[in-house]
Amino acid sequence: MNLNRLKSSLDIERTLNAKVGVIGAGGSMGLICDLARCGIQHFVLADPDMLESANLARQGHMAAHVGHFKVEAAAALVASINREAEVLGLPVDFTTLSEEAIDAHFGDCNLLLFCTDSFKAQAFGNQVALRLGIPAIWVGLYRGGRAGEVIFWHEDLRPCFRCICASRYGAHEQAQTQGIRLDPPSDGADIFTIHFLDSIVGMVSLGQLTRGADNRYGRLIEQLGDRNFLQVKIDPSWTLRDHDIVREQLGIAETCDAYFAWNTIVRRDPDGGEPPCPDCVKYRGRTPKTGIIPIPDGAIV
Ligand SMILES: [Zn+2]
Repeated sequence: MNLNRLKSSLDIERTLNAKVGVIGAGGSMGLICDLARCGIQHFVLADPDMLESANLARQGHMAAHVGHFKVEAAAALVASINREAEVLGLPVDFTTLSEEAIDAHFGDCNLLLFCTDSFKAQAFGNQVALRLGIPAIWVGLYRGGRAGEVIFWHEDLRPCFRCICASRYGAHEQAQTQGIRLDPPSDGADIFTIHFLDSIVGMVSLGQLTRGADNRYGRLIEQLGDRNFLQVKIDPSWTLRDHDIVREQLGIAETCDAYFAWNTIVRRDPDGGEPPCPDCVKYRGRTPKTGIIPIPDGAIV
């Protein structure tokens, strides 16, 4: 790969040596290829699905690969961009992997990307990222692909994916007891929608992988600070429970003449990761809030 024209904005030494783990090799196909174009040449991918003809309209896969595992198709596409790239494709459900298998395949990753609409896989991924202390990004489309979200985490951030999505965890747990699946169908999300969201994920990925470098991407994560919850409005008429959250978060009056479309807002967890979620307690050693102040041994009371 000749990366000379990226040198001014990207620490290419870091991207060339980085290893990225990706869970989901469908909608993420464009993202994986674009990361390869930025110099990432070590990937480990997990996805149990075979490529079907119906995937071609919405995912960056090729017709020649229909009938193959998506991870195999992904490896072939990355190789067509950079022949030196190494892609390990695991045609498995990530959530069924043993801790030993995860450590062996993903333990030395510099970044984990959870590009799946399965909440179960996202939640499992939070445990893995926190346990291994590996920076991670979760990407998801809202119903119909009219908007999406990107959540990123690294060890210096208090709120993890579960801290930010506490109410979602509660809703999924309740639905599970009733035998209902809440994962929003992504039907309606076209390739432009998916690429739009993936572009943002790709830029945050470069920021995570080259954090601290003295250039644009190296500064990105510090600029975002503790704002690690991104919401991306794609359909101009999208609202969340009748709220135009982009307009509200930016404090824009209804009378403002500017039209809002294709906007991203980058938000803080309103609770700042407090109280810590069960994953933060288990894997980061944070103290659960019980409402009782413990009395140290030997204290005079
Ligand atoms: Zn947490």
